Amino acid sequence: MVLKICVIGAGIIGLSSAIQIQERVGQGDITVVADKFSPETTGDGSGGFWKPHMLGETPISDLRRWSETTWKHLIAIAMSPVAAQAEAYMVSGYSLSSRSQYQEEWWKDLVLGYRHITPRELQMFPDAKSGVFFTSVQINVVAYMDFLLRRFQKNGGKIQRKAITSIDELAPDYDVVVNCCGVRARHLLDDFEVTPVRGHLTRVQAPWVKHFVLRLDPGEEAFVLPGVMTTVLGGADEVGNWSIEVKDEDKGAVWRRCCQLVPSLQNAQVDHHWVGLRPSRSRVRLETKHVTVHGRKVPVIHNYGHGGSGVTLHWGCAAEVAELILQEIQDRRRMAKL
Ligand SMILES: Cc1cc2nc3c(=O)[nH]c(=O)nc-3n(C[C@H](O)[C@H](O)[C@H](O)COP(=O)(O)OP(=O)(O)OC[C@H]3O[C@@H](n4cnc5c(N)ncnc54)[C@H](O)[C@@H]3O)c2cc1C
Repeated sequence: MVLKICVIGAGIIGLSSAIQIQERVGQGDITVVADKFSPETTGDGSGGFWKPHMLGETPISDLRRWSETTWKHLIAIAMSPVAAQAEAYMVSGYSLSSRSQYQEEWWKDLVLGYRHITPRELQMFPDAKSGVFFTSVQINVVAYMDFLLRRFQKNGGKIQRKAITSIDELAPDYDVVVNCCGVRARHLLDDFEVTPVRGHLTRVQAPWVKHFVLRLDPGEEAFVLPGVMTTVLGGADEVGNWSIEVKDEDKGAVWRRCCQLVPSLQNAQVDHHWVGLRPSRSRVRLETKHVTVHGRKVPVIHNYGHGGSGVTLHWGCAAEVAELILQEIQDRRRMAKL
């Protein structure tokens, strides 16, 4: 039996889920349905940096599993010949705090070479009182999304550009629906635990910046992430605002904080500004629920609410979507035998 599977959403979460289903389940006629494709999705504009961030009360045991799987996947790409195509690379740098006691991270053993910084390093950052240095992995998400889309289509996957008003409209045509609709789950499902956290990024030409620098202080958060073609500056977050218009006050705040962290940025040329909405939720939703439409029971696997960490978690969450489908197939076989 070949299952007809629909994945709602062509962001990093939807595309990776579709590929993991193709490659782990090994059967299925899969269509990705979305009204926005790369380069218009949230991940395309994001920093593309592996670091768990803004994940509500999602249990650490789940986060560790998903982020570790994603880490291994991205590092394997970064260390392979396809790194140039997916634009995945290792990057080292500083994470700083104005507190004298740096708050340890639960993921410190997942990254490479995590260590507290020395007094000499601290002298370079006059506003910081503590900090750590580590190596992580980063992707240029636009290139990575193209890499994923090609892999999905090479595996026989189909795409359809369409806006969905209700999951019920897909249920009659598919055996399984996988819902990866990001922040819009609030409207599609009336899931009021989903809230946008609006973020502003400024991309600049600063090829001399080779280390990332993050400042974690609430209200004064800032980050500088060197990329392949541009360096990403960020740090203005706003909870509950759905606007994706660029605001002058955010431009100013991001510029001021990032130039304070890395003063050489004052001579950088601005490439462009971007605003995106992090799909923040009380906890990441990754589970199967069944809907009954016209007397037909259809499993819906939800995979959304990855906050500021969709890149960091995507491959691990997608692997679990595939496991949930395998479980569904087993349940059907068991029922058929009864
Ligand atoms: C400023 C900023 C910086 C970030 N930096 C990082 C970072 O460095 N590292 C990191 O790990 N994460 C980062 N993130 C978070 C990350 O970008 C998101 O968690 C991730 O992109 C969410 O992916 P998604 O696929 O769930 O959602 P989206 O990319 O928003 O995709 C949703 C998809 O669903 C489709 N869809 C939704 N509703 C419907 C509907 N009704 N009908 C049809 N289609 C629909 C859309 O068309 C789209 O294809 C950042 C986010 C922001 C805003």
